[in-house]
Amino acid sequence: MSSVDEITDDIYFAELLPWQHQLWQQITARVLSPSSSLPHALLAAGMQGMGKRAFVWRLVAWLLCRERDQHPAGACGHCVSCQWLRSGTHPSLQVLPLTQMPISVASANSSQAAELATKTGKKSAKAIAKASFTIKIDDIRALQPFIYQGGQGIRICVLDYAEQMTIAAANALLKTLEEPQAQVHLFLISDTPTQLLPTIKSRVQQLPLQQIEASAAQHYVTQALGSTINREAIGSSQIAQLLQLANGAPLAAIDLAQAAWYSKRALWLTTWQALRSGKRSAIAASDYWQSQLDIADFIKLTEMMILDIQRVCLGLTSSQQDIELPKAITTYQPSEAALEAMLYQLQQVKIALQQNVQEKFAYDKLMQQLAQL
Ligand SMILES: [Zn+2]
Repeated sequence: MSSVDEITDDIYFAELLPWQHQLWQQITARVLSPSSSLPHALLAAGMQGMGKRAFVWRLVAWLLCRERDQHPAGACGHCVSCQWLRSGTHPSLQVLPLTQMPISVASANSSQAAELATKTGKKSAKAIAKASFTIKIDDIRALQPFIYQGGQGIRICVLDYAEQMTIAAANALLKTLEEPQAQVHLFLISDTPTQLLPTIKSRVQQLPLQQIEASAAQHYVTQALGSTINREAIGSSQIAQLLQLANGAPLAAIDLAQAAWYSKRALWLTTWQALRSGKRSAIAASDYWQSQLDIADFIKLTEMMILDIQRVCLGLTSSQQDIELPKAITTYQPSEAALEAMLYQLQQVKIALQQNVQEKFAYDKLMQQLAQL
């Protein structure tokens, strides 16, 4: 791999996402203007796949960059600060949770994340990382000397998955938020800001990162998939479908297109019909699917399919135009209660898996449930 690839993959120096230009300009102009300054604490919140982390890491690098005045479009990449970031040892940057470091900060390179995912089984690196995230009161206390040390130069703290703070940690952070220190900036990132304490939310300024025009999203996903997927060209209706299923989040739509389970939706329908008609036993179906997808992916696939079956049963249009889902339920429609029971079962299996229930056992159970749907 060339070093150029590594640089372009790096979260700190990646290209700005096209829908973030205006916000970038507003913020950097504010920092560079002698008459205004950046708020002490900022929150990047909203669903996954909108690029909020990409924006924050890029901004962090730029704020720390020693040559930012000459490089308003992004960190210069070669000053001492930028070099510290590349080596993962910046003395003016603190990141929580600590368990996140190997994935998103020290080696933010997508191929490394993929490698990690392979090493740890087929689960996505994100899912593994998130499961182990909590920010505890001791973590917040450990930040205090860094925040209050005074001295020259800007210092930055990033709290990713901020909703994972314990109540005690959030209360400890509250004190820090109430006593802004010169040259210290706090960034909070959260996929589920509704889980943040209102007292925290009221003391941070939210970055408007959620507004993406549909045409910009469509264009971006088209470009990204055109250059990464080798199979036949993806049409605009496919892109629109991906975006709809990803609630309009472009990066999530790209992940979806590349997910192994996404290409198995028609197969899922076939299995479900075979189970229902008794042509296939739950055990046989379970054995087959275990060779196809890990249980976490099968759960995602099943969730999407059940939600779409629910839509069609309610008389709405299917979210998936490329498989024959409406046709599959013309002769037989599961009851609303059965669909709800299936969704409940999926949640139960997720919980059981966290408690180390065997994958095979979970798969068997889901197939039995599907056979009765
Ligand atoms: Zn620099």
